[in-house]
Amino acid sequence: MRVKDLLAAGKTAVSFEFFPPKSLRGWEKLYGTIADLSQLQPAYVSVTYGAGGSTRDQTHDLITRLRKETALEIVAHLTCVGHSKDEMSRILDMYAESGVENILALRGDLPQDPTESHPTDFPRAVDLVSFIREKHPQIGVGVAGFPEGHPESRNRLEELTHLKEKVDAGADYIVTQLFFDNRDYRDYVERCTLAGIEVPVIAGVMPVTGRKNLARMAELAPRTRFPAGLLRAVNRAQSDEGVERAGVHWATEQVRDLLDQGAPGIHLYTLNNSAASLRIAESLGLEGLSSVS
Ligand SMILES: Cc1cc2nc3c(=O)[nH]c(=O)nc-3n(C[C@H](O)[C@H](O)[C@H](O)COP(=O)(O)OP(=O)(O)OC[C@H]3O[C@@H](n4cnc5c(N)ncnc54)[C@H](O)[C@@H]3O)c2cc1C
Repeated sequence: MRVKDLLAAGKTAVSFEFFPPKSLRGWEKLYGTIADLSQLQPAYVSVTYGAGGSTRDQTHDLITRLRKETALEIVAHLTCVGHSKDEMSRILDMYAESGVENILALRGDLPQDPTESHPTDFPRAVDLVSFIREKHPQIGVGVAGFPEGHPESRNRLEELTHLKEKVDAGADYIVTQLFFDNRDYRDYVERCTLAGIEVPVIAGVMPVTGRKNLARMAELAPRTRFPAGLLRAVNRAQSDEGVERAGVHWATEQVRDLLDQGAPGIHLYTLNNSAASLRIAESLGLEGLSSVS
């Protein structure tokens, strides 16, 4: 089923994100995580697409396996920077043949070295959205949004204009970058509405699970504001377990508030661990996540 149709039920769709691991041990752990989290009946799960070609085949392998072995709805992330139209056609045909009904259309991060050339038929995510709509109109398409601003954006008003271009090109919904203060999400949703963007905005939530993980989040999402209350709780903790408890508590409160406010969707960045998501679900009395009221 397409995410657009899942969201049309009018309840909150809770979903999980996984990435294809690099080691055998990582794969074993991931399968355990998927088994744990499948019991919660998420609305869908998504699989990231490695930038730079490192994990692209693994993304496809994981998706194929999930399609064969589970009843989970799947969203395949797909980045377009560096791809030619021929390559992209092949990838999309392969996904369509595997029965993938949903793609999160992304540009991907540009190469770190500005002198490195990256010839591409798809300089921006909007080009991929249009291409999918043209070649595989039946596939559901989501796009990324950044409540606290995309790191490359010089101008937050123009950023919303570019987001609207993705929606006008055919995106069905937006999934946000992680954030820690729900006021930032609510304000973003309002700004989207004011910009004429009418598709659902799924809230991306990532629990802090350790001090190293906090530093990594700041690297991956450099615009993220870490509220003082969260940092105080992390600083008070005496151990990594203590940091995790504080981080999961914070994320639980975020999810509780998002549910109370009727957010259309909540996307949990799991980092391939089930513990935090299971604790959030348990604390909030969530048993089936496909459509929570
Ligand atoms: C939910 C989510 C999932 C993600 N999953 C992955 C993943 O699986 N793999 C991965 O590699 N990365 C992933 N990313 C990261 C993403 O690829 C990067 O953040 C990337 O830098 C931007 O991608 P985008 O799709 O937002 O690009 P775009 O929408 O193309 O935007 C990129 C920048 O260009 C600007 N822009 C757009 N159009 C114009 C224009 N016409 N003129 C001037 N500026 C313009 C935008 O405002 C923005 O600053 C994910 C991000 C999110 C939020």
